[in-house]
Amino acid sequence: MNTLLPGATIGVLGSGQLGRMFAMAARRMGYLVHTFSPETDTPTGQVADVEVTASYEDLDAVRDFASRVQVVTFEFENVPAATVEAINGIVPVRPDGAALYTTQHRLREKTFLQAAGIPIAPFRRVGTRAELDAALDAIGYPAVLKTAGFGYDGKGQRLIKSATDAPAAFESLGGREAVLEAFVDFEREVSVVCARGADGETAHFGVVENSHERHILDCSLAPARVSAEVARRATEIAESLLEQLALVGVLCVEFFLTRGGELYVNELAPRPHNSGHFTIDACQTSQFEQQVRAVCGLPLGATGQLRPAAMANLLGDLWQAGEPDWRAACAIPNVKLHLYGKHEARAGRKMGHLTALAPTTEEALRLVRAARAALTSRA
Ligand code: AMP
Repeated sequence: MNTLLPGATIGVLGSGQLGRMFAMAARRMGYLVHTFSPETDTPTGQVADVEVTASYEDLDAVRDFASRVQVVTFEFENVPAATVEAINGIVPVRPDGAALYTTQHRLREKTFLQAAGIPIAPFRRVGTRAELDAALDAIGYPAVLKTAGFGYDGKGQRLIKSATDAPAAFESLGGREAVLEAFVDFEREVSVVCARGADGETAHFGVVENSHERHILDCSLAPARVSAEVARRATEIAESLLEQLALVGVLCVEFFLTRGGELYVNELAPRPHNSGHFTIDACQTSQFEQQVRAVCGLPLGATGQLRPAAMANLLGDLWQAGEPDWRAACAIPNVKLHLYGKHEARAGRKMGHLTALAPTTEEALRLVRAARAALTSRA
């Protein structure tokens, strides 16, 4: 594929906030963006040039979409393989279908990671109740049972503390294939967002530290408070995964870091990630611009971080007592507001985020938390 220069049209599968921020970066650089998903008036559609509303299974609509763009990328990895295949004959998909196929299914992803020699928590495939019992015998307690496909933000996940939790956990699968993995007693969770260009060049945004609430990302701090040695190993693993997946685009690698300094890969996402949102305000190039550059075959941008940063997610819960007080949060200097244009604020739904910049990550975290608290502190 030749380089796609500004003026070209990029197709995005999926229409959430990741596609929105991608489209904003693409349009800023002079590209056109078409988005495809089953919904209308979406976060991506609101800022794209064209919003196509059709099912991922409607392959005629998928082919028609592909015929109007020069390259297709995605912001959501649970896209059926047949959808990607239908596009492949028409225009390139970046990252390609193979990377998507591996990373959209936990069992395939873990099998790939194991074969690649990447440290991961011990795991077993679980299809039947007997397999769950055998897996618990092998892995021990506590363990985490996760559906193999289509899980995110802890959905389809159960902690098994002892044998008495096993029957209900198995029932909750509803017959779906699953993975049992050892519970990792981590000190902190960290991630690396990195990118690989069409010519094989790679770049990363350093190590980010993440805290979760109810399995949903709550805050990210960058740079992470980890040793130089941990940062070196995490970024090396991330870059080796880019090579092994031969991925063209952005990849996020999520890790557990133990007290002993060991890193275990938890998950891969072959796209920009919530933990990389700080790059919009804090880095020379954002993770979204990097995705634009990679999928269009442009050189990658510099990833230097200009100031320490902290990001806090804004979930729908904040709307419980009415519209949050945007003015109060904006009154705090060095805090940036990002909202995704979602009309319905449901509990646990990612509606937006705040990013704070400060001389230290601790100060940035304090600021971003204060700004978020100010949203709902009206007397
Ligand atoms: P996941 O959807 O796999 O990223 O899991 C969501 C969150 O659940 C993670 O970020 C962790 O906070 C927690 N979690 C998942 N798997 C494990 C595990 N094996 N050990 C400890 N915590 C876990």
